[in-house]
This record gives sequence, structure tokens and C-alpha cells, in this order.
Amino acid sequence: MSLKKSFAAATAMAGAITALSFMAAGSARAQGALVMYCGVQEEWCRAMTTAFERETGIKVSMTRKSSGEIYAQVKAESQNPRADIWWGGTGDPHMQAAEEGLTEEYKSPKMSELQDWAVRQWEQSKNRTVGIYSGALGFGYNTDLVQSKKIPEPKCWADLLKPELKDEVQVADPNSSGTAYTLLATIVQIMGEDKGFEYLKALHKNVNQYTKSGAAPAKAVALGETTAGITFMHDMVTMVVDKAPVKVVAPCEGTGYEIGSMSIIKGAKNMDSAKKFYDWALTADAQKLGADAKSYQVPSNKNTPVPPQAPKLTDIKLINFDFAKYGSSAERKRLLSKWDNEVKNLP
Ligand code: PLP
Repeated sequence: MSLKKSFAAATAMAGAITALSFMAAGSARAQGALVMYCGVQEEWCRAMTTAFERETGIKVSMTRKSSGEIYAQVKAESQNPRADIWWGGTGDPHMQAAEEGLTEEYKSPKMSELQDWAVRQWEQSKNRTVGIYSGALGFGYNTDLVQSKKIPEPKCWADLLKPELKDEVQVADPNSSGTAYTLLATIVQIMGEDKGFEYLKALHKNVNQYTKSGAAPAKAVALGETTAGITFMHDMVTMVVDKAPVKVVAPCEGTGYEIGSMSIIKGAKNMDSAKKFYDWALTADAQKLGADAKSYQVPSNKNTPVPPQAPKLTDIKLINFDFAKYGSSAERKRLLSKWDNEVKNLP
């Protein structure tokens, strides 16, 4: 073959390859798109996005935010929704959104594979949100700092009020963070509202910072930036797995827990993709990605192995958390504004 001929053949071949790859990209595009608001840790959000894209060819645009922030955004965008699926974060703002008609009713064919608590969440929300994982609230402390500052090891909620922990406790702001709202609702349920708010005001004296994200205090404890932090216990476990000097505590008085949830946004522009994601996210295989991303919640699919590192809910004194009440729009708004007025602005 002459040089000229072989060049022509190569050009034709390159053209064919280009055409083929355009067709492939076109068919991936034809699979659609999905806009996801993700409420768990960034690593897990990214793992879910990548796995779903690989499996379906659907391109995912993901934004990670805290639970209360996603709720506020979904509400603000309700006339012209940008997101299709809201995956993860505590159940309370999902419940509130359900009550306010911001999310869609949907029954997945995967419902029969789910734990009772996940199905109950779906029933209580009139089919608008479903449980995807569960985990208990607690706190953690930096063992090196407790030792060097000669602070008695805290074991109970009451211990976090001790003067030795002045400016040494970190927790998130319940307006943005589902973790911190779970603390607010837990304390009110354990102590009653009056005593509960007295507790939160006393705790305020020991709080060095109200963070935006619920898991941030776990990292701060691990780095020794604060002695103690109130988070979901599994967030502290992640620090222990990373070999930080952290002890995880299930408070002696008992504690609340979350049902991390998933909802389809009302008026989603990519409704088929949202339902595909919803069904896939409830599968045992998709739920295994949590532990791979060092998130140690209890998964809602009965066939997903519970990560061995996950705090055992049966060993923790759990309260009978009233998800319907504390996820209701009126109660959530009332408690948050009371906290703003009576706790946050104290000196
Ligand atoms: N990260 C993990 C691992 C969680 O379990 C949860 C609760 O669902 C969150 C983050 C929620 O974060 P935030 O308290 O910032 O809303």
C-alpha cells in the first residue's frame, strides 16, 4: 500500500472510530441524567455516584450538604426543582418535606427486602421517604487530651456539663445539621422539654463551636482540636478505624438514633432516573458501598451485611424515638426556633 493510500485508510479508520465513540457517548446520554442532593459523608456520596453511573450510564450531578441545608434548598426550589433525588441525611427533614408536599410518593419493588424501621419511616411519611440506614447518637473524646488535662472520662450526657470541659465540647448547629437536631430531639425526649432546654443551655457553656456539618466534630476530636464532640457514634468509629486516639461513648442515660432517609423530589425533571436510583440504592449491593467508604451505619436492606465496626444497636440503651412527632413540620420549626432564641444566642 502506498503511503498516500495507507494515510487515506488510516483517516477512514479514525473517522469510523470517532463515529463509534460518538454513538457510545450518545447512547450514554440517551440513558439520561440525575441531579442528586447527598446528605452523608462526601466519600460515600462520591462512591454512590460513581457506582450508579457505571451501572446505568446515567450521568449524575451530585451536591453534598447537611440535612437541614438540603431541606431548605429543596423548599426554596420547589416552584422549579433542580434536584431529582435526595439521598441520605437524617430522616427528620425528609419527614418535614414529605408533610409539606415537597417530595413524591413512590413504592419501590425493593420494599420487601427492607428492615421494619425503614418501612415504618415510609408508611409514616405516606410513602414519600424511606429508611436507608440507621445509627445511634453519642459522643466521642480524645483519649490523649482527657489524660493530659486530667479530665474524668465522660460516660453520660451529664458528664459533658462538667466545668473541666469548659470550651472543650463541639457539636453542630441543629438548623443545618440533622445530627444536632437529633441531639435536640433526643435530650427533650429523655429529660422532658423544660429540663432538656436547661441541659442544652448548660451545655452551651462548654461548647467551643457550633459547626455546620454534623460529622465535623468527629474530625476535630481526632485532630485534638476539641476534647469531646457530639456526633453519631458511627462518625466517631470512622476516626477510630483511622487510628485516631478517640473513644466512642454510648451515653449512660440512653440515647436517640436516626433513620437516614431517601426521597424523590416532587416535580423531578428526571423522574425515571430518580426512580432507577431509588430502587438501586435500596439493593444490598449498593448499600455495601457505605462500609467501603468507611461509613458504619446499619444498612436498611436485610441482605446487606452489617459492617462489623458498626455500633451494635442492641447493645445501646436506645430511647423509643418518636420520628413522626419530631419530624413533623410544626414541631421541628418550633424546637429549632426555641433553640435559636434560648440557647444559641446566650453569651
Ligand atoms: N454523615 C453521616 C455518616 C450520617 O450518618 C449523617 C446522618 O444521616 C450525616 C452525615 C448527616 O449530617 P448532618 O448532621 O451534617 O446533617
